[in-house]
Amino acid sequence: MSEQHPQPQPGILGIAMYVPGKSKGPEGVTLHKLSSNETPLGPSDAAKLAYGEVSETLEFYPDGSATDLRAAIAERYGLSAERIVCGAGSDELLSLVAQAYLGPGDEAIYTTHGFLVYPIAIAANGATAVVAEEDDLTASVDAILACVSPRTRVVFLANPNNPTGTYVPIDEVRRLHAGLAADVLLVLDAAYAEYVRRNDYEAGIELVSQFDNVVMMRTFSKIFGLAALRLGWMYGPEHVVGVLNRIRGPFNVNAAAIAAGVAAINDRAHVENSVEHNSHWLGWLEGEFARLGLKVTPSVGNFLLVHLPDEDGKRASEADAFLVERGFILRRLDNYGLPNALRMTVGSEAANRGMVAALGEFLDRKG
Ligand SMILES: *Cc1c(COP(=O)(O)O)cnc(C)c1O
Repeated sequence: MSEQHPQPQPGILGIAMYVPGKSKGPEGVTLHKLSSNETPLGPSDAAKLAYGEVSETLEFYPDGSATDLRAAIAERYGLSAERIVCGAGSDELLSLVAQAYLGPGDEAIYTTHGFLVYPIAIAANGATAVVAEEDDLTASVDAILACVSPRTRVVFLANPNNPTGTYVPIDEVRRLHAGLAADVLLVLDAAYAEYVRRNDYEAGIELVSQFDNVVMMRTFSKIFGLAALRLGWMYGPEHVVGVLNRIRGPFNVNAAAIAAGVAAINDRAHVENSVEHNSHWLGWLEGEFARLGLKVTPSVGNFLLVHLPDEDGKRASEADAFLVERGFILRRLDNYGLPNALRMTVGSEAANRGMVAALGEFLDRKG
């Protein structure tokens, strides 16, 4: 290869590209996309309406500080709007945090089956990713703390984690924070927080309010059903908010996303229905997979891991191919180091029942 052409910064060519969930299946079969943790209930009707109305004013730049949206979020969660930054998905905010706080020679920690956007954001800035072992597919505070070195600048924790669906109780998150030096940034990625129904879980709002080195990421892509619009937000200390506001694009969040986001966050009934739907069908799916003799990892999110272990590691890919033929698109997890598992998003009643029936058929045929 010629060295004559422009060269990217060190680390970038070592990045394995993010592989999104599949969205295609065979022609003529009803597709159930259960590969990207999207909500089967769609967004709030009010959000769709607000989105449509923006078509009348497309010639205008959006409000670069997303004032209405930050006000709506602040009101909903009892936060200060000055401490919120919105982004084109929380992915953008994760990248901005990495860009601001990581560079060559720095280290950032995430866990074995942590969200794969973290290593990309770390390497894109020339920093080194340090991977902490998990305990039974769950982030381990002790293991993370054991990875801390004088070079550690950022710790990324998805809570609950994707793709495992497991979570770290808030007391443990506090213990993690307590073990970090004041100049290490703890990034709590709470993309699935709304779905969690556990008394010992918190997304991290109080920790952010209390300390100068914690931020929390949230998204409109999951329970709010606005993944197509790319919208997320970060709650953080004023100094971090000031840093992100300096380096983000001046109009990083578009007008349609702002309008739909405000409407979505104000439609509490829709969110409650979505939590209800999810809890019911998550429990049902766990029971059905157990009945089929399959191990599932207990999940607090809107998805679950189904394990299909075998001798030569082929069963999960055979099951995946069998399910795709019947229109059920799940997520293969080879790139997450989980080649024997498939991740299924909780879908509509028809999708959930159909998927369990199809997997049962696969097991009957293949054993
Ligand atoms: C889906 C997801 C996000 C959200 O990403 P967006 O860019 O807001 O769509 C963030 N973190 C985790 C762990 C996720 O699974």
